[in-house]
Amino acid sequence: MDYQAYFKTRLNTLREDGNYRIFADLERKRGAFPNAHHRGENGKGDVTIWCSNDYLGMGQHPDVLSAMHHALDTVGAGAGGTRNISGTTHEHVLLEAELADLHGKEAALLFTSGYVSNWAALGTLASQIPGCIVFSDALNHASMIEGIRHSKAPRVIWKHNDLEDLEAKLAAADPTAPKLIAFESVYSMDGDIAPINEICDLADKYGAMTYLDEVHAVGLYGPRGGGIAEREGLMDRLTVIEGTLGKAYGVVGGYIAASAELCDFVRSFASGFIFTTALPPAVAAGARASVQHLKRSQTERSRQKERVATVRAGLDEMGIPHIENPSHIIPVMVGDPVKCKFLSDVLMRDHGIYIQPINYPTVPKGTERLRITPSPVHTDADIQHLLNALEELWAQCEIARVPMAAQ
Ligand SMILES: *Cc1c(COP(=O)(O)O)cnc(C)c1O
Repeated sequence: MDYQAYFKTRLNTLREDGNYRIFADLERKRGAFPNAHHRGENGKGDVTIWCSNDYLGMGQHPDVLSAMHHALDTVGAGAGGTRNISGTTHEHVLLEAELADLHGKEAALLFTSGYVSNWAALGTLASQIPGCIVFSDALNHASMIEGIRHSKAPRVIWKHNDLEDLEAKLAAADPTAPKLIAFESVYSMDGDIAPINEICDLADKYGAMTYLDEVHAVGLYGPRGGGIAEREGLMDRLTVIEGTLGKAYGVVGGYIAASAELCDFVRSFASGFIFTTALPPAVAAGARASVQHLKRSQTERSRQKERVATVRAGLDEMGIPHIENPSHIIPVMVGDPVKCKFLSDVLMRDHGIYIQPINYPTVPKGTERLRITPSPVHTDADIQHLLNALEELWAQCEIARVPMAAQ
């Protein structure tokens, strides 16, 4: 086989379909985020980032940076091993305690990313509990899907956020089989939110465990940033809450929070936890400072809410279609992969605005979009500049607007 030719052919198909991924080469400027340098075909330029998951700008927060500097200078760079063999440092222990407290759980377990935490925790629970059936929301993140697939446990996919469908599927399953319902709180592409309370009711009725991915909610919702389950007073109803330290907390890493036994079980059986080097202690220290700050401070959360509302109001005024949802995510719908990529390119080239196009397979074909994430560090001028650029492009490119009557 001509391997190189095969790679080329497959990549060319992606390009023809408008689904080839091009990464923006960015250099964030500490203290000036969301502004960054971008290196592209035309050299180095200034851009404003409008699609970051550093939702609150915590990646440049002085408390986070000083905790990281301090840890780096006192304990050095890497953890030096897996958690089992010399890699558990005091910073890991402290961060796990902080996260358990955040979610009102007995324990928490750290992973190197949110992806790994989902993959390892779901994979372990579903494979190590004999006969376990996983009930997975149709729009679950790739990391959950991969974990469930890897477990080889029977998997039942229920219609997205559809309680009737979930109940029908739970009722049809063997009543004596162990069950695990896996879902997210805030879904990151549409920005909609799951009916957590009702899903927990069904879990109780059918004797199932619940696994909630709060990756797009931790730090952002709830009086202490514990997520949607905290905001709604539901944390104690969930068997497992999973989160990331890489999005609103601005650093990197993932975790689960649950009972002491469950965390100990995953710690003891999950290959993806056991056989990999622990996070650098400085990363754990920075993440802990970020979690601690957002437990106390409402400033970032309330400013973000106001910024999101301002951008939405501006889009409405211009009739630019975006999905209405109760979260901080604004999906501006384009509905065509080539146009979506073109818009993103022109925004970058002519306006210094960076919004990554979101195309298939991240979202279904025909729902290609620009996903905008306003943060507390976007200024009024940033917002006006964004709205002006979108207005101009929508006029130029003849993309559908919302009919006035439908607004
Ligand atoms: C980003 C994401 C993850 C993975 O988290 P990382 O820390 O980035 O690896 C998990 N679940 C959802 C829903 C996500 O969007």
